[in-house]
Amino acid sequence: MFNVKSFPVNPLQENCYVVSDDSRECVIIDCGAYYPEELQAIDNYISQQQLKPVHLLATHGHLDHNFGNAHLYEQYALKVEICEEDQQMVEHLAQQAESLFGMRLSEEQAPTGTLLKDGDEIHFGSHTLKVLQTPGHTHGSCLFYCKEENIVFSGDTLFRMSIGRTDFAEGSWEDMERSLTTVVASLPADTIVYTGHGPQTTIGDELQCNPYLR
Ligand SMILES: [Zn+2]
Ligand SMILES: [Zn+2]
Repeated sequence: MFNVKSFPVNPLQENCYVVSDDSRECVIIDCGAYYPEELQAIDNYISQQQLKPVHLLATHGHLDHNFGNAHLYEQYALKVEICEEDQQMVEHLAQQAESLFGMRLSEEQAPTGTLLKDGDEIHFGSHTLKVLQTPGHTHGSCLFYCKEENIVFSGDTLFRMSIGRTDFAEGSWEDMERSLTTVVASLPADTIVYTGHGPQTTIGDELQCNPYLR
């Protein structure tokens, strides 16, 4: 059994995913939960399902994917694992909050865990997530790909019928184009894509209909 539970969180409706298998170990991907009730809903799910969180992963360093890191560190002693190119971003969430959203963060900054690079494998239960680096939206953006379950977590690299912005300071359209054609397009067509915002899709649907991939 393999479960992907999604929690759309924070005002930007970012998708936080709790992914578990029969072993009851789980990984939490992109914990952008901001409001206390959002964090509570994730905690409740973990305790009701009797899950053991073993990794906290981030597809990139943007604030809306990392609001909940401090809470998860406090609650489960998990440190966020992220590609090293986005380490600076994730370690300066308060600055991002001020400059991007004009808001003040009250949470303490949580420490960063293992820095990821292309090809790394993250294990939980009997499953493996492979890190596929896809720079473009940010320099350290990546996908988490589970080959045996035929699913990928795409963060803000790929959305249903769209892609992530490349016009932020950390973005690059040239890198994005390369990531889409060499990494995203090379995944099997029936791969289910769990996106960073909005509904899920498949690689095949996107190759057919997404204007950025056709
Ligand atoms: Zn982003
Ligand atoms: Zn986002």
